[in-house]
Amino acid sequence: MFDGRVRAAYISATMERYDYLLAGGGAAGLSLAYHMLHSGLRDCRIAIIDKDPKRSNDRTWCFWTDRRFVFDSVIRKRWNRMEFVGTTYRDSYDLAPYQYRMIPGIELYTAMHDIIERSPNVEFVHGVVEEIHDTTDGAEVKLENGTRLKGAYLFDSLLIPERFQVDTKRYHFIKQHFKGWFIETDLDCFEPDSIRFFDFRVPQYGVMRFVYILPFSARSALVEYTLFSAELLSRDEYERELRDYIENVLGIHTYRIVEEEQGVIPMTDQTFRRRGGRHILYTGTKGGRVKASSGFAFHRIQHDSAAIVASLERYSHPFALPRAPRRYRLLDAMLLQILYRRGQLSEEVFTRLFKHNPVHRVLRFLNEETSLAEDLRLMATVPWWPFIRAFFRLKTLGP
Ligand SMILES: Cc1cc2nc3c(=O)[nH]c(=O)nc-3n(C[C@H](O)[C@H](O)[C@H](O)COP(=O)(O)OP(=O)(O)OC[C@H]3O[C@@H](n4cnc5c(N)ncnc54)[C@H](O)[C@@H]3O)c2cc1C
Repeated sequence: MFDGRVRAAYISATMERYDYLLAGGGAAGLSLAYHMLHSGLRDCRIAIIDKDPKRSNDRTWCFWTDRRFVFDSVIRKRWNRMEFVGTTYRDSYDLAPYQYRMIPGIELYTAMHDIIERSPNVEFVHGVVEEIHDTTDGAEVKLENGTRLKGAYLFDSLLIPERFQVDTKRYHFIKQHFKGWFIETDLDCFEPDSIRFFDFRVPQYGVMRFVYILPFSARSALVEYTLFSAELLSRDEYERELRDYIENVLGIHTYRIVEEEQGVIPMTDQTFRRRGGRHILYTGTKGGRVKASSGFAFHRIQHDSAAIVASLERYSHPFALPRAPRRYRLLDAMLLQILYRRGQLSEEVFTRLFKHNPVHRVLRFLNEETSLAEDLRLMATVPWWPFIRAFFRLKTLGP
């Protein structure tokens, strides 16, 4: 995808110097580059380093917002309705003024490729980062092929979720893991303007399991089998559950699988360090941008990128970042603990949240946009005893 500026093989043994090194060119790296290029930093020298040339559609990002948003030009689909389906309750909600939006990874990668092509001061360096060092006047990266790059500041989003380590004696750690099929049907089977956020009509086996559906038309949709649990499943298990749901719950017997999506998102209440050194800031999943209780990160990454750029513009360093109110960490930690220890309660928790709150309040809460009064109203609707137990079990909430 970034062939025009793939330079790792050609950069000489001499040290290349940049203003900013972006180690990792996924959601966080590319978003930060986008925000920098749309700010007063647009003329700075930037290198984005990634081992993957980003030629494939390796994921889709969804988020909800009620306003114009970055990357709006690459949105593939917007939905105005949302459905919740539980075993005892189901409802469909009008999202206005919110919209649920989806960006295919490949669209964002291609759009950023075009922007980079037009920006002589930005380079995409294709290579595996082997080492990162903080130095007295900046930070350095060494690639597997021996190439060295230096920048005044380095933004590190290199994290492999499967290898992510958490101190499980003090914190909870579960994975949001899923497998989805993009399917096509011969008959009209989907409501194109409505996503199915949760469908709990799948066996729970003691952990939170649900199906998530993004319909693109009446005859095509992404159907995703999702779990919040400590252990991953085998490929056969994901596929068996998906097939069961499509055939026995949706009643669709003739369909074609045109694409697949699979992923693991770490969810933990462990405190993420933002600073990796005097000149290094962790971003994206590595910088704790995944919301611990939901696994959503894209929206938060955009806000974080804007805040990093604002800090650079104002203070000439990237570390003056706002902190989310502490109560969100507390609520996330309690919910995560319930999902971890008492996953069988998850359907009841989410059913009550959706049944007894306006959908906008739930969405604002998940985006960390609610007021304290709204949070109290929300908490009054969940089963209180598991939350009280979870509160008293919390050992620490860190800094
Ligand atoms: C399949 C999937 C679907 C998701 N869907 C959503 C969603 O709908 N909404 C939402 O809010 N969140 C979603 N997420 C969660 C989150 O938004 C994404 O994981 C997001 O991509 C995280 O951004 P990141 O930059 O931290 O990581 P990535 O986007 O994974 O970027 C990290 C980059 O680092 C590179 N890299 C790693 N190691 C090295 C190395 N040693 N050298 C060089 N490069 C390296 C990788 O190639 C990668 O490009 C999803 C996650 C997955 C996995």
